[in-house]
Amino acid sequence: MGYNSATVRFGALTDTIPVRRLEKIWFSKGRDVPKGWGKEVHITNHIVLPGEQFPIGYSGKLLVYDRKGAVSSMHFHTVKHETFYILKGEFIVWYYDPDNADIKHEITLEGDKVEIPPNNPHQVICKGNNGIIIEFASSDYAWDNYRIAKGDSQTKEIKRPCGCPTGKFE
Ligand SMILES: [Zn+2]
Repeated sequence: MGYNSATVRFGALTDTIPVRRLEKIWFSKGRDVPKGWGKEVHITNHIVLPGEQFPIGYSGKLLVYDRKGAVSSMHFHTVKHETFYILKGEFIVWYYDPDNADIKHEITLEGDKVEIPPNNPHQVICKGNNGIIIEFASSDYAWDNYRIAKGDSQTKEIKRPCGCPTGKFE
């Protein structure tokens, strides 16, 4: 499936590993995905299929919150590890302490980052009038989103730029 094999030396060890055929560089745009709290801009999502070594699994998106108080669901992922970098604005990040189930929050400012390992419920609220988070993460699988409290995407109508019918989704 797009792979050749090659014999490679790792120090004293020799192993045969799959080697991906050379792919060319390509250019495209981020994809806007409307949300109840604003929009996501999907930049990339490299999925690793079972048994595959390549491509390396990673994803990246912008989380664009469009108003004060805009809120995501409280949710967790069982596989995905997320790193948030606050590019613009201020946010409140709610999370649980897994040792004692205390619910805690932290105020994050521009330049702050938040590491969210798998299985940690988290929820983000926009503290200023708007704000942007860059999300770096491992592969983003649609089945790996577990919501435990509703956010704006579950409670508000979502405005789609295409003008097609609005509705609650995601
Ligand atoms: Zn998340």
